[in-house]
Amino acid sequence: MSHARQRFQDQLPTDPLSRPVSDLTRVAEARATQLARLGIHTIGDLLMLRPRRYEDRRQVQTISSLGPGDIATVRGRVLASGLKRLGKGRKTLFELILEDDTGRVHCRWWNRPYMKGQFHQGTEIIAHGRVHTSKPPAMEHPETEAIDERDEPPVHLNRIVPVYPLTEGITQRWLRSLLFEVLQQYRGHLCDPWPISLGREFPSREEAVVRLHFPDHPNQPQPARQRLALDELIQLQLSIQTRRKRLLENAPLKICQGDNRLIKPFLANLGFRCTDAQTRVLREIRADLLSGVPMRRLLQGDVGSGKTVVSACAALMAIESGFQAALMAPTEILAEQHFQLFERWFAPLGIDVHLHTANRKPTLDPTQPTLAFTPESPSPGSLAVGTHALIEGAFSPDNLGLVIIDEQHRFGVAQREKLVRKGNYPHLLVMTATPIPRTLGLTLYGDLDVSIIDQHPGGRIPVKTHVRTQSSLPKVWDFVHKQLDAGRQAYVVYPRIETDGNAGPKGLKAVTREFDSLRERFLPHATGLLHGSLPREEKESVMRAFREGHLQLLLATTVIEVGVDVPNATIMVIENAEQYGLAQLHQLRGRIGRGTHESHCILLTSGKSDEANRRLTVLAKTTDGFEIAEADLLLRGPGDLLGSDQSGLPKLLFADLTKDVRLVERARHFAADLLKTDEWI
Ligand code: ADP
Ligand code: MG
Repeated sequence: MSHARQRFQDQLPTDPLSRPVSDLTRVAEARATQLARLGIHTIGDLLMLRPRRYEDRRQVQTISSLGPGDIATVRGRVLASGLKRLGKGRKTLFELILEDDTGRVHCRWWNRPYMKGQFHQGTEIIAHGRVHTSKPPAMEHPETEAIDERDEPPVHLNRIVPVYPLTEGITQRWLRSLLFEVLQQYRGHLCDPWPISLGREFPSREEAVVRLHFPDHPNQPQPARQRLALDELIQLQLSIQTRRKRLLENAPLKICQGDNRLIKPFLANLGFRCTDAQTRVLREIRADLLSGVPMRRLLQGDVGSGKTVVSACAALMAIESGFQAALMAPTEILAEQHFQLFERWFAPLGIDVHLHTANRKPTLDPTQPTLAFTPESPSPGSLAVGTHALIEGAFSPDNLGLVIIDEQHRFGVAQREKLVRKGNYPHLLVMTATPIPRTLGLTLYGDLDVSIIDQHPGGRIPVKTHVRTQSSLPKVWDFVHKQLDAGRQAYVVYPRIETDGNAGPKGLKAVTREFDSLRERFLPHATGLLHGSLPREEKESVMRAFREGHLQLLLATTVIEVGVDVPNATIMVIENAEQYGLAQLHQLRGRIGRGTHESHCILLTSGKSDEANRRLTVLAKTTDGFEIAEADLLLRGPGDLLGSDQSGLPKLLFADLTKDVRLVERARHFAADLLKTDEWI
């Protein structure tokens, strides 16, 4: 159920639109079950059923005018029909000849023997489909509908009719009649939900729903859809903006004044200077921390743009002010890596760093020397690094000032909220390398301010990307071998851990199956194996061995996708690359190209689908994460970009986040105006 509808019901608990469809006289129990399969439970749901397409039946085509390739609607009488069995197999062809005053058309359906007996000679029907041949004209698998002249008002004929998605047992005719009737009866309940005007360019909600189903003109459904999409988007923006408003009203003050006593030595010992982009973002963060309202900031920066250092500085600002900070990462491997890095950075400053993962809870170790502080310095804060164990586990900070979430796109909004609540509304910095196209950004992250690192640290050589098929594999391995000989390191990434049977149904390679032969092949270089099913200790030690250069080649699953930072690794081979979205491949590729040597990413495809290969060449052409994300969004839709459980987005029936940029903007403004009016709570 959409949020919008939910909301309308909240307002009016007795709203007739929230009554079950089984209340309708035409909907018996069996019908209600069928409708439920289409996601229709209430009368409101039914009215929101979006037609798949429309058919203009004001002018049906004459049969004599049909030409091959036409997509046409014709009306005629059934002259004859019959079922043929073809060959020895079970192949059948059902054929029906339709006649109007100008000619005859053959309608054919393959392997639908049950259609026999559904059409009686002399019945009038409408057929819609593509004309294949011209002599005689024939349509294959047209959609048909019987005509009954005794019908109620003009629902099915002489008008533009809606064509709905169907499910077994429900016919187009029945559903269309039902909607026609329900609309007459219930349209009066489709009130505009907002106490302010949306402007004259949008029809009223009632008019929109009527036009959606029974337009008088082909250009009416479009504004109708936009209006209904706008309602959905306003509802979404209202929940986002209300959450933010509440936050600002209720959160306790946590001003992080800072005094630079930790940041200064940290930056001095870093070994490099921050880029201009990093410095700008740090200034934005500093202003937030001083502002007296909790920071809610999204830091977007391409892989390798240096977000970690920025987060470290933010942590230091909080710690300087006497607060604790927490850093949450999506995988144990990344949490472990951050832990090691931050310990190296922060220990010399006298800051405790703890690791919290599902398998590892920090214990107070009495043998550890406590660091001595001069009495006048305020008690030092600490940093907790961890996975989602920080949310679920016993982690209970008493003075949490800042939460940092790395690789936000892996966490849902709900998880983020949970951690923040645990800390009694600390400042929040979420970081993502997945560039979020603007429409999605406004919707998903509508409650966050955005900072962008739009610059890579200097001295980097862009990664060269190559798309290859399996036949080039020997050459690819020779190339990798030479690079290892030259002192570089390499990753090979597989889509699966293990396959049962031979190659698995789709020919996907599995990391554990390739390991032995590749280890032999690359001797005397050392090869490691890394995947999600290994025990934590083993994962850690493999990753450490690779980082420290004891392993030259690492065979892994996508567990290495996020955040792993080994500058000497310059080669990445990705097997079954066609399995991944572009944004994910871009993430993976971001593991290389982090040092001073030229890096190569080789995308290996099974070579069967040209479409897949074409898609992958986008990556070969650009390293611009935003361009890639836009391409991915268009190719695969928003769910994919965000990961399945990510978005926490309500199901949008009418709004399309990939296209409705303008509507999203309008909805934001309407929602803001609504929140300003007293009538709306
Ligand atoms: P990401 O934004 O993907 O998280 P990281 O923070 O892991 O990127 O940074 C990638 C690499 O670049 C790290 O090795 C980091 O130490 C290095 N780095 C970050 N900032 C700079 C800088 N200003 N100059 C040089 N190297 C930098
Ligand atoms: Mg990172």
